[in-house]
Amino acid sequence: MAGQTQAKKRDTPEQTEFREYARAWLSENNPPLPGFKPIKSGVEMVTDEQRDYYCGWQKAAYDAGLIGCDYPVEFGGGSRTKCQSVANQEMALAKTPVFAGIIGLGMAAPTIYFHGSDELKKLTLPKLFSGEELWCQGFSEPGAGSDLASVQTFARRDGDKWIINGHKVWTSTANFATWMILLARTDKADKYNGLSYFVVPIKSQLGKSVTVRPLVKITGEAGFNEVIFDNLAIDDGFRLDEAGKGWQVAMTTLAHERSAGEMTTPNAGGQRALTRDKVSGNQSPLIALAKKCSRNGIPAIYDAHIRDQIMKMLIRSVGIKQNRRLKGVPALANPQRLALQDKLLSTEYMQAMAAIAMEIEGISSTLSHEDEKAPDAGRWPFAYLSSFGGTIAGGTNEIQKNILGERILGLAKTK
Ligand SMILES: Cc1cc2nc3c(=O)[nH]c(=O)nc-3n(C[C@H](O)[C@H](O)[C@H](O)COP(=O)(O)OP(=O)(O)OC[C@H]3O[C@@H](n4cnc5c(N)ncnc54)[C@H](O)[C@@H]3O)c2cc1C
Repeated sequence: MAGQTQAKKRDTPEQTEFREYARAWLSENNPPLPGFKPIKSGVEMVTDEQRDYYCGWQKAAYDAGLIGCDYPVEFGGGSRTKCQSVANQEMALAKTPVFAGIIGLGMAAPTIYFHGSDELKKLTLPKLFSGEELWCQGFSEPGAGSDLASVQTFARRDGDKWIINGHKVWTSTANFATWMILLARTDKADKYNGLSYFVVPIKSQLGKSVTVRPLVKITGEAGFNEVIFDNLAIDDGFRLDEAGKGWQVAMTTLAHERSAGEMTTPNAGGQRALTRDKVSGNQSPLIALAKKCSRNGIPAIYDAHIRDQIMKMLIRSVGIKQNRRLKGVPALANPQRLALQDKLLSTEYMQAMAAIAMEIEGISSTLSHEDEKAPDAGRWPFAYLSSFGGTIAGGTNEIQKNILGERILGLAKTK
């Protein structure tokens, strides 16, 4: 515990002071657990009760200066320098709830900041940070996922307006979102240079020119949606960067998408399933499970196969930690490579971890999280089903491997 109350060695004086402030504030203001099962990420939010709890927490954290710390004050930020990472570390340590506005904070904010006009930043960023307005990402379509540049949703210029028609799919949190970041086609003749990027007010147009339909996931949750535009008219001021430069703007969003989880889900790291909780001293959830479940007539923790699997996971978790540590070494850090590696390693790790837990549980792993006899309240089979979303969302892991191979390792291009 002693180490946790000291500033990190590499902290600047501003970071040291901010860390002390954040820690003191969190020790007083970390909200009590909700009266319902907590969610692991803002994209799992489905009920109004959940929205009120997680948006309420986000607003409190924003009012305390723990969100948007490094953005300029005029756009709703704190005008600090490299303090967001300090806030994130302290929130992870304090085990705070996740933030509702995962897409806003992790993807829309940096994209608007780098590519939007000052008016747009002033209009959108403060309520994005506070969670008063949630955002969704309208990229994927029925015919455009991995091949994102194939989007067909069309924005037609009409004076100082754009008229949007089309169909987006897999749109997480569209059911709660006030705004969408939208990649749309403005020129049918040019695949990449025919794309433009907009921010689109969707909530105010529901039931008029925007329809949002929930889609049920393999976990039984309805966290994402399809969104249909039928002659939605928006102002030209809602365009980011020039018309035809949408692909470049989308690359800013995707670069941040791969590391968005660090900001918005500080406690979702699967590695914690293997380590003793530093604050409570409780043993690792996976090892606790292996001690209480029996396999071949003995506690699973004594089973050679299970021990071997747990050790392999421990080694993988060290690899993930080392990859993250590289970010702190500027000479070694290639931001694109590290974010891609992190996404690949951590999503496949989560999947493997849940699969081992189910092996430990044996036949009991077939009990759903609604069955009172399910070990660990059904956490592991649920995590296993959820883990496939992680390996697909934000660009599938196959695509991440292609990018790493081609752009970082210089391997031959896939045909
Ligand atoms: C939980 C979740 C949340 C999501 N949230 C959003 C959201 O908020 N907004 C949004 O816009 N989208 C969202 N998505 C959509 C996501 O971005 C797409 O599912 C993803 O990009 C893959 O596209 P696709 O589903 O069309 O699959 P496809 O592109 O059709 O791919 C099908 C399979 O083929 C493989 N494949 C395709 N091309 C290649 C290739 N060149 N080399 C090797 N393998 C290849 C893929 O890896 C995959 O296994 C979400 C998805 C999930 C699972």
